[in-house]
Amino acid sequence: MADNFKTIKCPACQKEMHKIFIPAAGINIDICLDGCGGIYFDNREFKSFDEQHENIDEILNAIKGKEFIKVDENLPRTCPVCGAKMVKNYASVKKEVQIDECYACGGKFLDNSELTKIRAQYSTEAERTADTMEYLYNTVGVKLKALDAKREKLAQERSWLKRFFDSLVGMDSKI
Ligand SMILES: [Zn+2]
Ligand SMILES: [Zn+2]
Repeated sequence: MADNFKTIKCPACQKEMHKIFIPAAGINIDICLDGCGGIYFDNREFKSFDEQHENIDEILNAIKGKEFIKVDENLPRTCPVCGAKMVKNYASVKKEVQIDECYACGGKFLDNSELTKIRAQYSTEAERTADTMEYLYNTVGVKLKALDAKREKLAQERSWLKRFFDSLVGMDSKI
């Protein structure tokens, strides 16, 4: 699906979300900068991250140093783009991360607290960036596979991610 260009309201805290442009991918994502820090990706947005030597500096810079309000992650949410009820899924077995997904339009919402938790475990920015990227793939990437049933796509994502890791942290990835 195409980028949504209208301003959408955060499904967690109802504040207007801000569009952050990711130049290399030519897409916008929506981040709740005035509220909870959650991130909404539409279906196409995550596909444009695969197979590209893309990074998420724009996302990380946008949320850097900001204080976000706390939200109840267990509350049901409504898709801000199409209005369908979102479904909570444990997207990563390893990390037990829960995301909200819209089965109608393919949108996905990630709570900021999950990103923060992951990033707090690392001492260098390179490691934080690499692991945040891995996190995004582990959550949304895996669910894309379930939605699209394209296994080779995931394999491509994994090999891309491994190269990304290797170049960033100079060590063997466990992926
Ligand atoms: Zn919010
Ligand atoms: Zn939707």
